Amino acid sequence: EFGEDTGGEEELVARPPVVTVMGHVDHGKTKLLDALRKTNVVAGEAGGITQKIGAYQVSTEVDDQERKITFIDTPGHEAFTAMRARGAKSTDIAVLVVAADDGVMPQTIEALNIARAAEVPVVVAVNKIDKPGADPSKVRGQLTEYGLVPEEYGGDTMFVNVSAITRDGLDDLLEAIVLTADAALDLRANDSMDSQGISIEGHLETGRGPIATVLVQRGTLRVGDSIVAGPAHGRVRAMINDAGESVKEAPPSMPVQVLGLTAVPGAGDSFLVVSDDRTARQIADRRSARLRAAAQAAGARRKTLDQLFEQLE
Ligand code: GDP
Repeated sequence: EFGEDTGGEEELVARPPVVTVMGHVDHGKTKLLDALRKTNVVAGEAGGITQKIGAYQVSTEVDDQERKITFIDTPGHEAFTAMRARGAKSTDIAVLVVAADDGVMPQTIEALNIARAAEVPVVVAVNKIDKPGADPSKVRGQLTEYGLVPEEYGGDTMFVNVSAITRDGLDDLLEAIVLTADAALDLRANDSMDSQGISIEGHLETGRGPIATVLVQRGTLRVGDSIVAGPAHGRVRAMINDAGESVKEAPPSMPVQVLGLTAVPGAGDSFLVVSDDRTARQIADRRSARLRAAAQAAGARRKTLDQLFEQLE
């Protein structure tokens, strides 16, 4: 039911990589995500006025081709681990941010270990190179000891010197992400099947009701689709992209805000499009019923609702 692209090879089309930014506290994850968001030059987004919806896409040119990259706009590995704990594979590539004046720190290694456990390739952003005490080669040396060997030393990890403040190296970082995706991954999805993906953020908004940002993983999500998202369901009434524009459809790897759900799904909940509203409601009701039954059976003492959902999926 969930998690597989249907059809054969010929149904698969290339999709952009989905990236999470990780690293030690204060090494510049938030600043870097903000700086990268402003590199957005996707046609039609004049002025680059973007809206924070939990994820965004930027566009960059590599070998004369326009390539898109999707960033999950939550710094740190909490989001990453929360979603993975639900069994949702949300990330294709991890950008490991290391401040060049501070070097490798405990959470740098923690983040690296999480990326490795998830078998996600890593691109290292050596940040704050504008600072007087910056020592980017020291960072390369330190990470080499942890098995992350820079390409320039004969390894297979791309290291890029950047400054989230002066914006130096941002284009190089985008290029490194695309090149790493091309070298290590085969990112393709069927864009014509009923859409599936995961919810990455949700909230309740006065006057507009539940709003969920979803990441489309396969198929194309369209206004009018009947969907189930975690315990919520509904008909997609409207979709809003990262530029705050209303859109009618969202292809694989595109994040969009969805309006029209009955409730707010949790981060990491899967969503899927079904044939009609009735089916959506039935599946959502069945999920809730099974959840309640399982909760009773388990005594509902040690298990959180999240853990139960995980078991049921
Ligand atoms: P996070 O905890 O990893 O998200 O780190 P932040 O993005 O909040 O950055 C921590 C501090 O470092 C802030 O004061 C930023 O302004 C500063 N900072 C981030 N990137 C750079 C950079 O490239 N150069 C300099 N000089 N400061 C930076």
